[in-house]
Amino acid sequence: MRPEYPRSLHEFRKLFADEAACRLYLARSRWPEGVRCPRCKHHEALELPTRRLWRCRACGYDTSVTAGTVLHRTRVPLTQWFWAAYLVATQTPGFSALQLQRQLGIRRYETAWAMLQKLRRAMVRPDRELLKERVEVDETYIGGPEAGLRGGRQVGDKAIVVGAVEVRGRASGRVRLQVVPDVSARSLTGFVRANVAHGAVILTDAWGGYAPLSEMGYRHRSRTQGDPRRASKILPRIHRVFGNLKTWLRGTHHGVGHTHLQAYLDEFTFRFNRRRVPMAAFQTLLGLGSQQQPTTYKQLYNRRRVPMAAFQTLLGLGSQQQPTTYKQLYGVESTG
Ligand SMILES: [Zn+2]
Repeated sequence: MRPEYPRSLHEFRKLFADEAACRLYLARSRWPEGVRCPRCKHHEALELPTRRLWRCRACGYDTSVTAGTVLHRTRVPLTQWFWAAYLVATQTPGFSALQLQRQLGIRRYETAWAMLQKLRRAMVRPDRELLKERVEVDETYIGGPEAGLRGGRQVGDKAIVVGAVEVRGRASGRVRLQVVPDVSARSLTGFVRANVAHGAVILTDAWGGYAPLSEMGYRHRSRTQGDPRRASKILPRIHRVFGNLKTWLRGTHHGVGHTHLQAYLDEFTFRFNRRRVPMAAFQTLLGLGSQQQPTTYKQLYNRRRVPMAAFQTLLGLGSQQQPTTYKQLYGVESTG
């Protein structure tokens, strides 16, 4: 039986109950097919738990299971890092350093803040694979004082955000969001070119800024919205994204300054695009992703209904029963 996907922090904490469980997870991430010495390729090693190292039984070479991850040389217990990454990967709205400190019982606020910064760094660059097939594109206004604006055309202190989302039947695929200086053709088509693959069908309203798209290798379909209240009917998915984004920004970051808005958009995008596979988000945050096969678009979206299977595939666990001890996994005893 495959273990259930952890649906709560409580379940997650049971799965990663102690340092040994976390170290085992790291070892599995590093060696999906069992331990293998990078120097002599021998497949037996002895764990040195306090140093988070594995020592080759043939040649004595030490391999670190945390190298290349945010966990390298940290004094913070692995359990706390794992919980923090889980919270950041799955919580909506996002987590503040103060919440993290309280939730995990971290003694110093500065420690919680630094952990959060490190985890957030992994969210700055969302996946680079271009959106494809059918994509809705629209702009919206964010931030600034809500009151005192008359009519829908005034920008005031608001920032302009352009967004694109893939059409997947009635649902949405991946999203991209970007702050733009204006709604000119240059800004809008520049965003599309940077984020959507050639040949895609682009669905927009009738705003002239999108008109050049058909000459740029896209199949452009624009529709007149007439009454602005109908906009959500013409482009329902991107309007849902904008609605969720605004709710999140209002709830978590009261009055977002323009300076940091793009970082918040990236964070929202990171979570949104991995909402069906939070475990993949969790791994990316910890920096584990680079150690195994990259998470491709196909892996993410062909398996969206079975996140645990996707999680296990990413770890290379296949359909095997989940090993429970070091001995079952590697045929050696842990010294700790
Ligand atoms: Zn060796």
